[in-house]
Amino acid sequence: MDKIYVTKPTLPSLDKFVEYLSQIWESEYITNAGPFHNKLEEELADYLGVKYISLFSNGTLALITALQALDIKGEVITTPYSFVATTNSLIWNGITPVFADINSYDCNINVSRIKEAITDKTTAIMPVHVYGTPCDMEGLDKLAEEYNLKLIYDGAHAFGIKHRGQSIHNYGDLSILSFHATKVFNTIEGGAIVSHTKEMKTKIDNLKNFGIVDELTVVDSGINAKMNEVQAAYGLLNLKSIDENIAKRKVAYEKYTYELKDIDGIELLDISSVEDYNYGYYPLFVKEKYPLNRDELYHILMSRGIFSRRYFYPLISDFPIYSNIDSAKRSNLPNAAQITESVLCLPMYSEIESETIERIVAIIKNPCQE
Ligand SMILES: *Cc1c(COP(=O)(O)O)cnc(C)c1O
Repeated sequence: MDKIYVTKPTLPSLDKFVEYLSQIWESEYITNAGPFHNKLEEELADYLGVKYISLFSNGTLALITALQALDIKGEVITTPYSFVATTNSLIWNGITPVFADINSYDCNINVSRIKEAITDKTTAIMPVHVYGTPCDMEGLDKLAEEYNLKLIYDGAHAFGIKHRGQSIHNYGDLSILSFHATKVFNTIEGGAIVSHTKEMKTKIDNLKNFGIVDELTVVDSGINAKMNEVQAAYGLLNLKSIDENIAKRKVAYEKYTYELKDIDGIELLDISSVEDYNYGYYPLFVKEKYPLNRDELYHILMSRGIFSRRYFYPLISDFPIYSNIDSAKRSNLPNAAQITESVLCLPMYSEIESETIERIVAIIKNPCQE
C-alpha cells in the first residue's frame, strides 16, 4: 500500500535548475544579494503586487527580524492557533506573548478578544492568516490605530492571496511570508518581509546582513538571514510554474469538497469569499455527529497509509515551554480549544492524484469498514 503524506514539495525542472547552476558556477557569485536574489525579489514583488520585498533564509528569521525592525518590546497579542514559530519569534525578541481567542468560523484571531487583552504594555498585534483565509483586516487596522499598536502579519500561508483587490501582504506595518518546502511557493527553505517604504526595506536588508550598512558601519545588532543564490535560482523557476501549481491544487481541493460536503459531522473551511485563494491546505473539522473523534479518524487513516496532520494541535499556549507565562495571558481560549481538538488536514499538494483523493474520501465516508 502506497504511503500518502500530508504534503509534497513542488520541485522545478532539474534540467533548468542545472542551467541556472551553471550560471552561478560561472559568476562565482553565490550569496549576498546576488543577481538571482535581486531578480527573485523583483519578480515576487511584481507577482504578488507589493512594493518592497526582502528575501530571507526562512520565514522564522523574517518574523524575528520584522519585530526587530519595528523595535517591538513589551507585550504582543497573538493567536494560540498557529505554527509555533509565530510565538517563538516573540520570545527571541524578549517580548511576552499574550494569546487572544480565535473565531470558530475562520480560525483567525478575534478582534474583540484582542481589545480585551490590551494593557499599557501592549505594543503590537501579530495575527496569522490561518490556511490563507484573510483575518478581519479592517477591524485590526481600526484597533491598531485606536490604540497606537503596530500590526505585523504572519502571512506564511497566504502566498498570492488578495483582499479587496490587492495583495493581502499590503496590509499591516509588515507582512511575513514563508517559502518552506511545505508551502504553496517554496525555495526549499526561505521567507520574506513585505514593507511599504524604501527606508524600511533598507533597514530590513541591513538587519538580515548583521546590521552592516557599509565596510565601516554597523547600525544594528542584526542577524544573518540572507537567501543564497542557489535557492533564489530555484525559487525563480518555481515562480514560473506557480499559477499552474495553484490551478492543480484547486482541482484537488474542489474534488475533496465535492466528496466531503454532505457528511454528517464533518465541517469544512469556508473559502467562498477569499480572492485568489491558493489552496495550500485541506483542513476539515470532526464534530460530535461523526461516528469517530478526530484522533480516531487520524489513526484509522494512518493505519491505511494516509498521513494526515493535526494542524494546529496542540495550541501554542498549551506547549510546556510557554507555561511560565502568566496564565491569565494564555487561558480563556474556548474557540481555539475546540478547533484544535477537531481539526485534521488532509494530504494536499499540486501533484496529488484523483485516485488518492478517492481513497481518502472512501475511508472518511466509511471509517469503520475494513
Ligand atoms: C511555516 C510557518 C512559519 C515558519 O516559516 P519557516 O519558513 O518554516 O521558518 C511561520 N508561521 C506559520 C504560520 C507557518 O506556517
